[in-house]
Amino acid sequence: MSIFVTKSFMPPIEEYNRQIEDIFENCILTNNGPKVKELERKISEYLGVENFQYVTNGTIALQLALSALDIHDGEIITTPFSYVATTSSILWERCKPVFVDIEPDNFTIDANKIEDAITEKTRAIMAVHVFGYSCNVQKIEEIAKKHNLKVIYDGAHAFGSKYMGKSLLSYGDVSTCSFHATKLYHTVEGGACIVKDKDVSDRLSLQKRFGHNVDNHIMLGINGKQSEFHAAMGLANFPYINDIITDRKRASDLYDNLLKEYVIRPKHQDNLEYNYAYYPVMFKNEAELLKVFDALNAADIFPRRYFYPSLNKLSYVNGENCPISEDISSRIACLPLYYGIENEVIEKIADIIKGVLN
Ligand SMILES: *Cc1c(COP(=O)(O)O)cnc(C)c1O
Repeated sequence: MSIFVTKSFMPPIEEYNRQIEDIFENCILTNNGPKVKELERKISEYLGVENFQYVTNGTIALQLALSALDIHDGEIITTPFSYVATTSSILWERCKPVFVDIEPDNFTIDANKIEDAITEKTRAIMAVHVFGYSCNVQKIEEIAKKHNLKVIYDGAHAFGSKYMGKSLLSYGDVSTCSFHATKLYHTVEGGACIVKDKDVSDRLSLQKRFGHNVDNHIMLGINGKQSEFHAAMGLANFPYINDIITDRKRASDLYDNLLKEYVIRPKHQDNLEYNYAYYPVMFKNEAELLKVFDALNAADIFPRRYFYPSLNKLSYVNGENCPISEDISSRIACLPLYYGIENEVIEKIADIIKGVLN
């Protein structure tokens, strides 16, 4: 059987069915139903955050974050090292992404380079806790205060990571998350916004349901509501979050032991309780990466080039040069990591990589 970079966690089917039976009984399928409310309550408690809004996906979450903060034009300082949705959500909201290069040892935006990119058009900083590693949240907050900017964290990878004893999703004016099937914790499709200010949260709540209350049309909105069926999957998966993280740690530790001398790994971060969302490895150069991919693919194993290309190089943006991100993007990959990945599979992957690199 093929091994992919990830495999969705599946709860016991009886537990999923029990959730679905409730829906068939009460006939409420969407529009802020009881399952959505229960999920919002349970996750915000688990994360220790307030103003938690469950939405349709992590991309709409980013777009809603911008619109709820009333950002509809101007420049957004962002990272080139992320999934394309970080950049595309900025463009889709008719703003201009301004790329600032990343830190070479944990791939997050280099906060020390942000101030040089600020102009009178800058409205916000959209940074990414990439792979579940923490951005330099103190420095970013300091810069945002000084220049009167909003901070949005794309926390699509941050669920379960804690920084300074708090969920990574509790930082910034808005933090977003994705509960897509490929993420650590999923609701098939899904996402969330965690909003610092109650008024902004109320706006976002209105904007995610067309901007109206019954016949009172208050502001422009979109459909970002989530369904009861998605919430049902989320509730069935919810009890397993800690098991999922523990098992990913088991797999990551084994990769660490086997590959220590062969690949370059991100640097350990103090004060971070890591969620083991991904297992990124850097090779010496792209040629080495491609050789490893050929050998793994021949064995029916499919790691992914996360993230490639560097987003400043997308054909539809005219991005600033980001030499560190461009270099890292050319030679980084994520190895298969998911709940239940067998030790033998990890050993086989490590053997193939060592075989190529020796
Ligand atoms: C997955 C992901 C998103 C988008 O989330 P969806 O729920 O798939 O829309 C955004 N940003 C990053 C960094 C992601 O990995």
